Parts: sequence; C-alpha cells; structure tokens
Amino acid sequence: MRIKEKCAVFGVTCDDVGFSVSNILYKGLIALQHRGQESTGISIMNTGGSNIYTYKKLGLVSKVLNKKRISQMWGNIGIGHNRYATTGSETYSSSDYMQPYHFKNNEIEFSFAFNGTIPNFDEIKQKMSDMGRIFVTNTDTEVIAHLLASIALGTEDWAEVLKIASRFLDGSYSLVLLTNKGDIYAMRDPLGFKPLCIGELKTEKRNLYFVASESCAIDAVEGTFLRDVEPGEIVHLSHQKEIHSEMILKSERTALCMFEFVYFARPDSIIDGISVAEARLRLGINLAKKDPLLNDPKIRENAIVVPVPDSGRSVAVGYAKEARLPYVEGLMKNRFVWRTFIMPGQQRRKSAVKEKLNPIKSVINGKDVILLDDSIVRGTTTEQIVSLIRSAGARSVNIRISCPPVINACYMGIDFPTRDELIGGKFYKLYGEQYIEEIRKKIGADSLLYQSLDDLINAIGLHEDQLCLACLTGNYPIKSAIKLAELEQSIATSRN
Ligand code: SF4
Repeated sequence: MRIKEKCAVFGVTCDDVGFSVSNILYKGLIALQHRGQESTGISIMNTGGSNIYTYKKLGLVSKVLNKKRISQMWGNIGIGHNRYATTGSETYSSSDYMQPYHFKNNEIEFSFAFNGTIPNFDEIKQKMSDMGRIFVTNTDTEVIAHLLASIALGTEDWAEVLKIASRFLDGSYSLVLLTNKGDIYAMRDPLGFKPLCIGELKTEKRNLYFVASESCAIDAVEGTFLRDVEPGEIVHLSHQKEIHSEMILKSERTALCMFEFVYFARPDSIIDGISVAEARLRLGINLAKKDPLLNDPKIRENAIVVPVPDSGRSVAVGYAKEARLPYVEGLMKNRFVWRTFIMPGQQRRKSAVKEKLNPIKSVINGKDVILLDDSIVRGTTTEQIVSLIRSAGARSVNIRISCPPVINACYMGIDFPTRDELIGGKFYKLYGEQYIEEIRKKIGADSLLYQSLDDLINAIGLHEDQLCLACLTGNYPIKSAIKLAELEQSIATSRN
C-alpha cells in the first residue's frame, strides 16, 4: 500500500540573527503533536551565514528534539514537521520518508514540508522519470521536491516556482518551504483541504512571523494569530520584510476537510474563522435536538451523557446542555497511548483501545449511557468501547455520532483508503437503507444515531461549497480523486 500522510507543519522567521528559533520550533511542533506522532523533524538556518541544517527522526517531538538537540541547532529561520504515515509499509521508518524534505544538489538547495496528499503523483513522477529524474521513494513528497527543483532551475522567484508547481499538483497540500536565502513560503492548495494560518510576535528586540497548520501552535509560542492562509494563496514570510502574499488561483468553491472540525483539529484552534470547540458544541446540540431517545421519560431519569475522550468532549457538553442531562466523565483515557485512528495497522489499533480507555464503574453502573463519539470508521473501536461500557454495568449503551456515516474512501490523505474497510461503506453495500441498523447490531449498542449531513454543515458554520464532504457523499472535489474512486469501483465490481 502506498504511503500517505496527515501531518502538521510549522515555520518561523526572525529578523534578529543573534536569536535562535529552535526552541520556538519545538514549542510549535509540540502544540501540533496530535496531527502526527510517528516522526518529527526540523530544518533550520541562520541568515547571518549558515546553510540549511535538517534533523529528523522517528518518535514524538519531545523525544526527537530533546534539550541537548535543541541547544545544538542554531538559526533565526526554520520549518518543522510532524508526520503520520498510514498502514502497510514498514518503510515509513526510513528517514527518506520523513519531513522536512531537504533537497540539495550542485545548483539548488531548499527544504520543505507539507500536510496533504497528491493523488496524481504517479503521473507527475512518470513524466519526471522520463526527463531523467531518479526517485528513491514512492512518496508524493519526493515528487513535489523534484518538481520544485526542476522549476527552480529556471527562476529565482520562489513564489513563481510554487505557482507553476501548483498547476501540476491535483490534491490537498498545505506546504511550507525554506529557501537557502532564508525565506519561508507558505502555500495552501486552491481548494484549501488542510488548514494553514499565520501569526506574528513583535517585541522591542525582534519581530517574528509564524506559519502553522493550526492556530493553537501560534498561541503556544505566544504569537498573535493574524489570519488563515487562504485557499490558493502563497504567503512569503521574510526575515527582512513584512508579509507578502499572492494568489495562485481563487476557486469558486473550496473544500476544507470537515473532519478537521469533527476530529482532527485541537478544540482551541480556529480554522477559516470558525472555532473548532464551538463547532463541536453545536454538533452536540444538533444531535440532541434530533434524538428520539430523549422523548422516553424512563431513559431521561436514568441517563448520563459520556464523551469518548478527547474529541467527543465538546460534543458531549453541547449534547448534555441541550438535552438537560448530566455530563459525566465515564471513560478514563491514558494520555500516554497514541490515538488509535492514526496508528498504522489494524492489529495495533485493536490492542490500543483497551490500553487507552478504562470505564469508571462507579459512575456507569446501572445507568443508561449516551455515549458521544466523533465517527465510526472501521467499527472495531466502537464495538470495543460499547463492550467496555457494558462490562462496567451500564443498563443500556446508546451511541451518538457527531458525523454522518463515512461510506466512501478518502483520496486526500486520510487513513481509510478503501470503501470496504469502512463499516459504513461495507454495510451500505450489503444492506442498503438498513445499513445503520446493521451497524448498530454489529457494534452491540442499544441504539445508534448519526448526525445528519445538513446538521453537520450547519454546526460547522461554513457553506457546503466551502467543505469537503466526499467521504460522506461521494462527491469528490478534485479530478484525480474522481478517477481513483472510479478505479476502486471498477475493481470492486470485477471482483464480485
Ligand atoms: S474525503 Fe472526508 S476525510 Fe477526506 S478530505 Fe474529504 S472530508 Fe476529509
């Protein structure tokens, strides 16, 4: 299986060559740890005279960028990346697959990192291989690196290089690039699938600019959030000048991944003007408004609202408030275990649920538990959580999901590559309109309610044309994803 990514990027420039940004990079990446936990890396340079230095390794930020390492890296400009790789390949442990990707030959040097996926990378790779480029990995990252390098041979204008590159890249990408002249460029794809924002910190001694996957990282370095990078925008952050920006292409529609609000992003982030925490609160309120269970007086007098930590928390608060039921922390989370959804390999995901969650028997015993979670992807995690709650003595377990059923594959970088791996997709194919009832039986819940599509859109607060909803609706917003969906469909049909 091909390696894909869902990651975090961070960058910082400082106009003071006597100041090192390595500790700021560390803090920014720590704040973005939830977006990728397999490897981390930074590229740093000093505009007073040093070259780009890159260090990357498998592991959490705190392990890879320990105090000693941080003190050894000196520079006033840098970018960083947290990486998450998907299933199947063991090669992800090679540093060739980690980011930032530091490109250097006799003519050109730069480093870049990105969050996203380029589904048409095979096509670009083939064309570049025909032109004599040699690839050592099978990643879209390396393809982007060679594409940028090829274009940059003809110009020193990096905004122009990125602009030209964007014409070839049909996918999702929020990218930061560090040039060997000490400039940072940030680019968000024309549909804006992934978030990206900029911030600043101005003091008497120095001025710093930041670019980050999420605004929580700008808060973490005590910066001031300036704004989101717009879909289709290139922002130039210079250590000498103010921020400069230009548009690659202004799309009529955009396609921010709705999962950012449902699950991925930290609640304290603001994405495209929307507070993630408030969107999650509204998701809970909308669910409660439509929940028939709340009309049953016997359930109401014995029910508690329990979140699956952490992303179910704000949703559960909204639900409990609207339902006027007690909100109870009934599942204890071990914070030192990775998030299950973004761990590679089904086996590792399975064993991790029990390690990660423990029910609090004293609050669950005898209760009708209304359990709030963000999504059901493969179904195994939810099944195990239902069983945990039952074993703690719950009278009934009622699952409420803040997102509609996920029934289609994502080709924009999220780890559920085939429809048959999704319980929604598989059961929809098997049982048609009855599929939600069959999912309920499979996970062993007493009742199951999903958010409706309209209520999801309404809770997020962006227009339908500003969101990617493809895994829910099957309407893919990019050509290469439509092609891949058709290919998957024809393979599935030929197997039947
Ligand atoms: S298909 Fe789903 S997971 Fe993938 S980008 Fe679109 S909304 Fe996000």
